[in-house]
Amino acid sequence: MVVRPLLLRAVIMGPPGSGKGTISSRIVKHFALKHLSSGDLLRDNMNKRTEIGSIAKTYIDQGKLIPDDIITQLMLSELKTIEQHHLLLDGFPRTVPQAEALEKMCPIDTVIDLDVPFETIQQRLTARWIHPASGRVYNLEFNPPKVPGTDDATGEPLVQRDDDKPETVLKRLKSYEAETKPVLEYYRGQGVLKSFSGTETNKIWPQVHHFLQTKLTDVSCKDDATPS
Ligand code: AMP
Repeated sequence: MVVRPLLLRAVIMGPPGSGKGTISSRIVKHFALKHLSSGDLLRDNMNKRTEIGSIAKTYIDQGKLIPDDIITQLMLSELKTIEQHHLLLDGFPRTVPQAEALEKMCPIDTVIDLDVPFETIQQRLTARWIHPASGRVYNLEFNPPKVPGTDDATGEPLVQRDDDKPETVLKRLKSYEAETKPVLEYYRGQGVLKSFSGTETNKIWPQVHHFLQTKLTDVSCKDDATPS
């Protein structure tokens, strides 16, 4: 007989480009849990022009993290409203003080860590090229130009946005690593870290699905873990 915990308290972690968005949405589709994303919650507050939203905007616009006390208060008060559900946190905690504050109110039992090699992510994030005059977008993996480096319609050269340039992407990945490594180590120390390694989301997903099935019932109509 499988003994399941009463309520799952999970966190998903992974750098930009690791497939975290895709995996999270598949988890939500297959398992009855509440997905709480700090980024979504902040964007919602910014759209609604709340006080927290306008404070958050000043940090986000500068590419900075929101101070621990502000984000922790926001997330913990949101958590109180969904105490009775299985939970998947996304984007929070991002620092050890946030993890410690969370642990006091809501001890985490599972951390899903998407461990995708730097080179793979860098390849994915730098695959986008644009034709500035028309705004046409190409992706070297999914819809490459017919002739490498040139626009299909005009033959003019394609360029990369600053954000997509290898040096910028590397910087973002390095800052993710510096920021979250201590959080991963914190959870490793708590014995709740479960890392999933791979280079393809469609290969990582079945492993995550199988792992979660040992903890929760799959409530989707599908009886397998085929990509969806
Ligand atoms: P995300 O969509 O998770 O990348 O979040 C967008 C932005 O919101 C981040 O770049 C941060 O500025 C801010 N943010 C989201 N979650 C947190 C957090 N846990 N701690 C601090 N800042 C956060």
